[in-house]
Amino acid sequence: MTDTTYDLETLSIHAGCGPDSVTGARTIPVHQSTAFVFQDAEQAANLFALREAGFVYSRLTNPTVGALEEKLAAMDDGSAATCTSSGHAAQMMVMAALLTPGDEVASSQKLYGGSLNQFAVLFPTRFGWKSPTFNPTDPDGCKAIITDKTRAIFLESLSNPEGVVADLEAFAKIAEDAGIPLVVDNTMATPYLCKPKDFGANIVTYSTTKFISGHGNAMGGAVVDCGNFDWIKYGDKYPELGKPNPGYGDINFAETFGPAAFAIHNHAVGLRDIGCNQQPMNAYLTFVGSETLSLRMAKHCENALALAKFLKSHDKVSFVNYAGLPDSPNNANAKKYMKGQGGAVFTFGLKGGYDAGVKLIESVKLFSHLANIGDTRSLIIHPASTTHSQLDDAGKEKAGAGPDVVRVSIGIENYKDIEGDLAQALAQV
Ligand SMILES: *Cc1c(COP(=O)(O)O)cnc(C)c1O
Repeated sequence: MTDTTYDLETLSIHAGCGPDSVTGARTIPVHQSTAFVFQDAEQAANLFALREAGFVYSRLTNPTVGALEEKLAAMDDGSAATCTSSGHAAQMMVMAALLTPGDEVASSQKLYGGSLNQFAVLFPTRFGWKSPTFNPTDPDGCKAIITDKTRAIFLESLSNPEGVVADLEAFAKIAEDAGIPLVVDNTMATPYLCKPKDFGANIVTYSTTKFISGHGNAMGGAVVDCGNFDWIKYGDKYPELGKPNPGYGDINFAETFGPAAFAIHNHAVGLRDIGCNQQPMNAYLTFVGSETLSLRMAKHCENALALAKFLKSHDKVSFVNYAGLPDSPNNANAKKYMKGQGGAVFTFGLKGGYDAGVKLIESVKLFSHLANIGDTRSLIIHPASTTHSQLDDAGKEKAGAGPDVVRVSIGIENYKDIEGDLAQALAQV
């Protein structure tokens, strides 16, 4: 185990990373194996009964995936982490552990488009998990929708695409007073800009597909257990964690595993039953990519701030939503929670509306027109016709994805080239 008091820059390189105890390999091997041989019958029985930690079957645990889990937990100062096949799988697995039919999750109105759909349609219609929403700029509005059925608050620390920075401490207080966990999707911020646990979050989710892996080459998700929620005290609400679990030989996860209860439940029950494990090769790519997280995030933020300033003074642009700009309504929270920075992704409006947006996207040369963020490359998309197209017009406006809005994810190329490309494209709209 790496010393977890190291700084993030050091942890992102060393945490979870060997050398391999058998071969001495300095970086992590790809354990592309479905199953692992037991030493003897007793060890096999112990592994199945969770009396011993080890590897059984890669749907549950795998050494390569485990190395990434160790690193992600260390980077967020969590007790343990669980990797999943995607960010959406991470959200699904968290909610499946916390909610039963008829329960509620209070969720933010400003989420990634796919998450809005997951919470607004899949969860209530297929699982009976109701999902009343709140505006993340309004903690009181969140407090007002908490009922005795609410089992979690879910929000993005830095929202995709609009860049709203949630007042995490205010939401953590609401969650604490209600005796429910605050679940924070920290995909856009990454631990480089924000460690949600420092502000009272209990569970952190990621799409590692984005900045954590950073190169646009591997899908993945993760759930970090902050180890700070009292599942035993609230065992009546969370019998999966705080009471004997009939789905796992009547183990009481909270009593048996203490601060890592949620993470071990995520492996033993979540991955086992939902089957959304991350592949070893993807964990390897993500592991290697994450070594440069700090360098990349610094450059992403520097380029994005410069471009936001450029766009703000451009006569074809009606507005720029970038939390790193001093006059942004999100700047105060960005100072408190995001080291004053705004990340790499932001939206801006075109005076020419929908048609101008389409023309702009068709005119860029360096930017890639695609549905991803957090790549080393600069990316551009028109959310209203793509990522947020499943929402009605009011929902699009609420999510910050109106018809005139363009979303960019600024890469780590040379700044002059990025600005030059948007300048020539804007000249054509
Ligand atoms: C992309 C994204 C997700 C979903 O992650 P996938 O890996 O695509 O499943 C969730 N939250 C945010 C903020 C995202 O940007």
